[in-house]
Amino acid sequence: MLMDSENLRELINIVSKRSKHKSKILLQIPEGLKCNVIEIIDNLKRLGHDVVLSAEPCYGACDIRDYEAKKMGCDLILHLGHRKFYKKFKTIVPVIYFPIKLSVKYNPVELKKISYKKIGLISTVHHVETLKDISRDLKNIGKSSVIGGEILGCYTKNASKIEKNVDCFLFVGSGEFHASGLVTEKPVYIFDLEKNKVRLINKMKRLKILHANLAKLDDAKKIGILISTKKGQFFDLNRIEKLKNKLKKMNKKAYVLVMDNITNEKLTGLKIDYFINTACPRIVEDGFDKPVINARDLFGSI
Ligand code: SF4
Repeated sequence: MLMDSENLRELINIVSKRSKHKSKILLQIPEGLKCNVIEIIDNLKRLGHDVVLSAEPCYGACDIRDYEAKKMGCDLILHLGHRKFYKKFKTIVPVIYFPIKLSVKYNPVELKKISYKKIGLISTVHHVETLKDISRDLKNIGKSSVIGGEILGCYTKNASKIEKNVDCFLFVGSGEFHASGLVTEKPVYIFDLEKNKVRLINKMKRLKILHANLAKLDDAKKIGILISTKKGQFFDLNRIEKLKNKLKKMNKKAYVLVMDNITNEKLTGLKIDYFINTACPRIVEDGFDKPVINARDLFGSI
């Protein structure tokens, strides 16, 4: 992902309008944009702002680093690459969100690989504008489409609302992270704009992990409840208690573990048989040594 000069100009305009005084800004930026970051910082400094770069990985707007901002004396957070998160949370430092829109040239001939007639179009904030062009190109080859709009790896309502009107989905973007989060019986294609290829994704990987881990729950006695401190991922204390009670009724011993990023290394060495994840639902696919299952896959919404 590269921030072009138009995006950069727009960013500078927004910051100038929203922050008339000279701010100290904590800059949060997705990994893919890091090659642009020095240019962005230099531009912000030219406006008279002081800038601190958050060097932590930033996967989504669920992860606003306001405590770090406060600690570093920042009075503003500039969060690049994502729109405001769909779940509401308060921050102790104001945030400007700047979702970057990218325009990419693609090969429309690739769309012929889709073997269905009615296609549901979804994307991320970066490429959602491209969906209109894709819709036109599908029409040119005799297919129809319904534009669903943006999805996240954890939030796919825009796909669910059009599901009954389409034969399959086409996710336009890069990588499988977002598309493989869709829970649907319908086939899901991805138009990978980095590779300029359309392919059908294999939804079985996710289901295999889920079924394998569900089957292991009966034998597990000690269960770790994984909590992330990230603002949009935090599972509130009432829900943690509800989860503990459910496990108690199942004769399981529950242990609450809190951390920022949830990784396999942090769980290694703990004498716990099984983990229930309450944070980003996509981490369960990250390859853990012990079974990790999403709380919502086990108990529905708590
Ligand atoms: S919770 Fe996970 S999928 Fe959702 S925005 Fe955050 S990192 Fe992305």
